[in-house]
Amino acid sequence: MPMKGLFKTAPGEGNMEIREVGIPEPGPGEVLLEVKAAGICGSDLHIYHWNIAYRMNPPMIVGHEFSGVVVACGEGVKGWEEGARVTAEPSAIVCGECRYCRTGAYNMCSERLVTGYWVNGGFAEYVVVGAHRLHRLPDSIGFDEGALSEPLACCVHGVHELTGIEVGDLVAVSGPGAIGLICAQLAKAEGAQVMVIGAAADEERLATAKTLGIDHCVNFEEQDPVKLARELTEGDGADVVLECSGAGLAAAMGLELVRRQGKYTQIGLFGKSVTLDFERIAYKEIKVTGSLGQRWTAWRRAIRIMAQGKVDLKAVTSDKFPLARWKEAFDKFEAKKGLKILLDPKQT
Ligand SMILES: [Zn+2]
Ligand SMILES: [Zn+2]
Repeated sequence: MPMKGLFKTAPGEGNMEIREVGIPEPGPGEVLLEVKAAGICGSDLHIYHWNIAYRMNPPMIVGHEFSGVVVACGEGVKGWEEGARVTAEPSAIVCGECRYCRTGAYNMCSERLVTGYWVNGGFAEYVVVGAHRLHRLPDSIGFDEGALSEPLACCVHGVHELTGIEVGDLVAVSGPGAIGLICAQLAKAEGAQVMVIGAAADEERLATAKTLGIDHCVNFEEQDPVKLARELTEGDGADVVLECSGAGLAAAMGLELVRRQGKYTQIGLFGKSVTLDFERIAYKEIKVTGSLGQRWTAWRRAIRIMAQGKVDLKAVTSDKFPLARWKEAFDKFEAKKGLKILLDPKQT
């Protein structure tokens, strides 16, 4: 039986197309999922343009954020049944032996190979994943929201596991894309006062932030966020900065926004090296950290947050395109229109 999948066919710029291949069979310990929804990530654009420093294995099917239904279980799979509604972690292969694997931080394993980069991913009618990477979707969560559990887990890892927010903190989030708006909602849920910062082109996204109850939605081309942060904190500045845009200017602004001894976390990827006044970190004793991907603990918490309705994922989803119209979807995302854009593999 054939299926359609969106392939990165070869290294280099572009080189993506829909191809027909046989439906894969799950091996021992694996399950076959029928994909219901798959989200386009900023890193998928980097795969398209071939400017990401991550191990890839073309020709392979792209897509690492997806939800679906278990349709077949391989040999030895326990605890999963056909019809189960699930989502899956994209850490397809890790070594299991290194310091990071042994301590549960397998997102840092140097041998890590990722679904949608190395192993065939979710921009297809079917995908095979390891049963140990599955997470069951709560009954109240639809497949479209379920496809956002990967970005939610990334945000839980960055905000909750690596940064730590305290009730009453002023948290500044730069970059009002899907990741920024999920981080902002998590910061609100942890009891912070939250400022989301974007450019004039982000007007619609900032309006969405407002509807999500974000306290201050700032277009930095009109209003100085550094001044506002100081006004809100008796002159101190933001307790926490979450940089989600991956823009050099936003990172520089973040070092100004954050108060002395405050925390700065880099979540967005720049895709190139940027120039920053690193000395500010010493003068202000800023605690700087980075965040990459997610691990099991963040997934478990993300699923629970979804079940509890603490984060509105529908509000950060703007479109669902048939898989066949993937190029239109990629172009829209690249133009920074809308928020999370999903692909529907069943609709061609
Ligand atoms: Zn992603
Ligand atoms: Zn390892």
